[in-house]
Amino acid sequence: MNAPPPEVVDQLVHANRILYDQGVVDGLGHVSVRDPRKADAFLLSCNRAPGLVRRQDIVSYDFEGNAVSETSERPYLERFIHAEIYRARPDVLAVVHSHSPSVIPFASTKQPLRPVFHMSGFLGGGSAHFEIRESGGDTDMLISSSYLGQALAKSLGAHTCVLMRGHGSTVVGASLQQAVYRAVYAEVNAKLQMAAMGIGAVTFLSEEEARLSSSTNDGQIERSWDLWIKRLAPLDLGG
Ligand code: MN
Repeated sequence: MNAPPPEVVDQLVHANRILYDQGVVDGLGHVSVRDPRKADAFLLSCNRAPGLVRRQDIVSYDFEGNAVSETSERPYLERFIHAEIYRARPDVLAVVHSHSPSVIPFASTKQPLRPVFHMSGFLGGGSAHFEIRESGGDTDMLISSSYLGQALAKSLGAHTCVLMRGHGSTVVGASLQQAVYRAVYAEVNAKLQMAAMGIGAVTFLSEEEARLSSSTNDGQIERSWDLWIKRLAPLDLGG
């Protein structure tokens, strides 16, 4: 395979840094994009904290989780999240997995995230819920096999976001920018939804309001993306 397009690699490095800067990921969590050269592969960093990812860390993996580009670096244990979602959802071009804290109480209580404001219209169908015990029994909670990845992808179904009980969440998008946007606003929505539920009965966006606002906001994501990049210190994107 030829090298992946440098602009896609740079976007993925930026996506990693943005998610760290926005507080969605910390030392853990990861973001991937479908390999533009090969629909049954995806680009993901090697086992590196997202805030430290450089160009040379980006590896192409197949759906079995094996590296198909040259690397001697360890992979993320949970690369099967990405592999099995890309396999199950041809419409998905990017995936973000995180442990962003505000979604955890929703995952624990099986309470779906629903859109409290227009920025999170992508949650219009509600978030999906994943219970790892149903397929894995007692585990370390990580999606560390194709089998568990398949169970997660099945729970995600056609949704944009799946909450993983006792663990975190995974969001998908039709572009890297959209998936990053959704990861940022899933966390924001969780905070606001929790605040609203503490005050009283919440009026969420209707499914149609959610669909319309999501569609309008999709045309504006570039504006946020440019701002998020500007906030980062000048990047040494690596060699
Ligand atoms: Mn995880």
